[in-house]
Amino acid sequence: MDCLFCKILDKEIPADIVYEDDQVIAFRDINPQAPSHLLVIPRQHIATSNDIQDADCELVGRMHLVAAKLARQEGFADSGYRTVMNCQEAAGQTVFHIHLHVLGGKPLGWPPYTERPKTAI
Ligand code: AMP
Ligand code: ZN
Repeated sequence: MDCLFCKILDKEIPADIVYEDDQVIAFRDINPQAPSHLLVIPRQHIATSNDIQDADCELVGRMHLVAAKLARQEGFADSGYRTVMNCQEAAGQTVFHIHLHVLGGKPLGWPPYTERPKTAI
């Protein structure tokens, strides 16, 4: 399987890893959209949110728990941060191994996106 994040998990591709346990890892996004932009991913390959199964609920919960711990570590747990999981092309998903974006370190606008030209979908 040709999956960028599985390659990061296997250490075939380097990443700035900030957290690892037996179920999830987290690393800094290569193209940060905020002063701190982390990605929390499961070791298990799950392509999109649509592929999450009942048996994965604890794993996905752990991703959120780790996101909150990292927000605390990064220093913005109390001031505020955002977690996002994009699902499929129209939402901007480009890597098909689920990942929780953790964005913080500046005030974040809402809504967070503008409509993309239809040709981009
Ligand atoms: P998404 O667009 O929601 O699928 O998010 C994919 C994210 O992965 C983007 O924010 C990219 O900047 C990030 N990304 C792509 N390649 C790498 C990489 N080699 N290391 C770290 N982050 C990456
Ligand atoms: Zn994968």
